[in-house]
Amino acid sequence: MSSVVSHGYRIGTNPRTVKAFAAGRTCAEPGCRTTLSIYNSNDLCFVHKRPGRPPRNRATRLAEHSVQGGAMR
Ligand SMILES: [Zn+2]
Repeated sequence: MSSVVSHGYRIGTNPRTVKAFAAGRTCAEPGCRTTLSIYNSNDLCFVHKRPGRPPRNRATRLAEHSVQGGAMR
């Protein structure tokens, strides 16, 4: 059974009703000039909002999708 909700509605993350924020905002981290997405409610860019963790890029997500529960890490 899939964990995806069948009626296509996820609380707070529905892409059709997602809130948009002011365009042109930049990361709050001093010295970081990364422009934030209008869909990013965080004040920090993806690099700085999770200290100590590597950014989750598409390759990481694909790896997580392909790795099953008992796979080697
Ligand atoms: Zn940043």
